[in-house]
Amino acid sequence: MRQKFVAGNWKMHGTLKTNEPLLRDIVAGVVGWREVEVAVCVPFPYLTQAQSVLSGTAVAWGAQNLSERAQGAFTGEVSAVMLQDFGCRYVIVGHSERRSIFGESNTLVAEKFAAALASGLQPILCVGETLEQRDAGKTLEVVAAQVEAVSNRVGVAAFSGAVLAYEPVWAIGTGRTATSAQAQEVHVALRTQVARLDGKVADGLRILYGGSVKPGNAAELFSMPDIDGGLIGGASLVAADFLSICAAAAR
Ligand code: PEP
Repeated sequence: MRQKFVAGNWKMHGTLKTNEPLLRDIVAGVVGWREVEVAVCVPFPYLTQAQSVLSGTAVAWGAQNLSERAQGAFTGEVSAVMLQDFGCRYVIVGHSERRSIFGESNTLVAEKFAAALASGLQPILCVGETLEQRDAGKTLEVVAAQVEAVSNRVGVAAFSGAVLAYEPVWAIGTGRTATSAQAQEVHVALRTQVARLDGKVADGLRILYGGSVKPGNAAELFSMPDIDGGLIGGASLVAADFLSICAAAAR
């Protein structure tokens, strides 16, 4: 039985002042939940704040990106070991905004995934198709290639220490959500792909859905057998909305 997982992706939002009540409200809201694990992935400068507010609570925290390199003269980069220093459990890799805006290739994403694992962080690997690719009937091919690049690099066993997130690009921040049937179809395909390599790893692998998840559509999405929770962008910035989505996963 996979424990559901809801992770917030704050993207480049927040200030010290606004983060404080948001984090405290989330902590207050998740007390006593066992059915769902909750985490927030915050911008790098706020990792100290997340660590200080969330330590000893039921809410985990993580980052949204990392360098594929261990250390050295790489101005502006942040390594996995540095994230470890701030108590991160998770790090998002391969978010579509990193792939499309910052040109991250499948190969680079696989390197980042490997770097995260090597330092004991759990990568949340994002995969997803653009609207053009969906319309061309290429959804399953695209996400399979994104996963394959990683499994070829680290081996399928590595997925037992990771989380997968299916995030159709056309649904991220657009208010347009995949239907639960559309999402379930892709989640099954992803699980089957991993199962071909290792059935046990596939059974335990948490596959999140991300893309305009809101309090009003979360329960329906999370009721699907292969949707194990959500990666939440915009709605994770409003404590009541995020908590309501977590509650939907806890049902
Ligand atoms: C995301 O950034 O991963 C995301 C799913 O964003 P939103 O929920 O705002 O669509």
